[in-house]
Amino acid sequence: MKQKGVLIVVSGFAGTGKGTLMKRLLSDYDTYALSVSMTTRSPRPGEEHGREYFFVTKEEFEKKIEEGGLIEHACYCDNYYGTPRDYVEQKLEEGKNVILEIEVQGALKVKERFPDSILIYVLPPSIPELEKRLIGRGTETPEVIHRRLSRATEEIREIQKYDYIVVNDDLDRCVVQLHSIISSAQARPYYHKEFISRLADELAVLMKGE
Ligand code: 5GP
Repeated sequence: MKQKGVLIVVSGFAGTGKGTLMKRLLSDYDTYALSVSMTTRSPRPGEEHGREYFFVTKEEFEKKIEEGGLIEHACYCDNYYGTPRDYVEQKLEEGKNVILEIEVQGALKVKERFPDSILIYVLPPSIPELEKRLIGRGTETPEVIHRRLSRATEEIREIQKYDYIVVNDDLDRCVVQLHSIISSAQARPYYHKEFISRLADELAVLMKGE
């Protein structure tokens, strides 16, 4: 029986390695689909339209909001980011577990609208380690790094609202842990409504025949 996929929201401070984790989850297991967000920020070197993000203008973004084409959207460090609705709904129907890699405001909106979604926050082993990774990445200016770290100061207050945290100290271990969290969530009755209702029907038939 086709089972509806789980909606998974993954957040984390900039530089915690969420992107790499998501790529590994997608390559190690075939049950996942990663949503590609829309953003008004400029592409970084190596990023491609339609792969990392759909890069759009502010006007295009606002039009999409008006059309109801986004599940959620938020402003992060002066740029808009949002999750396109169609892809997510289609993949969930197909039974894929859909991952949204989004920041906290958006994550909490998703939880409100989809109470059975799972919110996971990825943390670095320590703040000095995070700073080292951000500087080492070399894709942002010191000013942008500072703004992203100050955003992390705000985000850390909201972590209690998430369902799970994982510490990205070891990539392999972290991928397995994420997959096991998601697999457990899939055992919730919400994801087995059809099966439960079939058993109820069969039970009713059996009782009638007695
Ligand atoms: P970056 O500019 O580093 O790619 O992303 C900045 C932040 O925006 C990250 O925390 C990322 O998870 C978040 N983000 C990416 N896409 C979306 C989205 O569709 N909605 C929301 N709310 N946040 C997003």
